[in-house]
Amino acid sequence: MFKRIVVAYDSSEWSKRAAILAGDMAREQAGTEIWLVCAMGSVPGTMGQAIADQWIAEQTLAGSALLDEGSALIGSSAVIHRELLFGPPAESIIDVAETRGCDLIVMGSRGQGALSGLLLGSQSQKVVSLAKVPVLVVK
Ligand code: ATP
Ligand code: MG
Repeated sequence: MFKRIVVAYDSSEWSKRAAILAGDMAREQAGTEIWLVCAMGSVPGTMGQAIADQWIAEQTLAGSALLDEGSALIGSSAVIHRELLFGPPAESIIDVAETRGCDLIVMGSRGQGALSGLLLGSQSQKVVSLAKVPVLVVK
């Protein structure tokens, strides 16, 4: 049913489950494509150009490692498009879903900041509220 899926990945246990689930869905539906999104945050505006360039290079390396990890969890059942974005997570996830014409977003209920007792993290709350396509929130 869903053939163009966004997976939001921050390396948290929840996002690992989201990646595995999306891989399972792809195994059951031939021709599924997955857009694997890692948002590294916005480039800090207060930095000088040289330091900003270095920050971007470091974040690109770190993001690339995250994308490798997420791709391995999804497995080889789907074509995977790597999306490394410099922006706030929820907006980046929604932007990829809209610009790539995706029909489902799969993400975790919590993420790296899962310290409080809340059931949903701020990014999953925002995506569930603002996305125009169905959102599968993995617990
Ligand atoms: P908060 O960030 O509000 O402290 P949290 O970290 O527990 O709470 P979220 O950030 O909402 O919860 O994470 C929920 C899910 O959102 C994650 O499992 C992941 O799927 C996705 N996500 C969060 N941050 C990112 C990110 N930087 N890039 C891609 N996906 C993300
Ligand atoms: Mg978070």
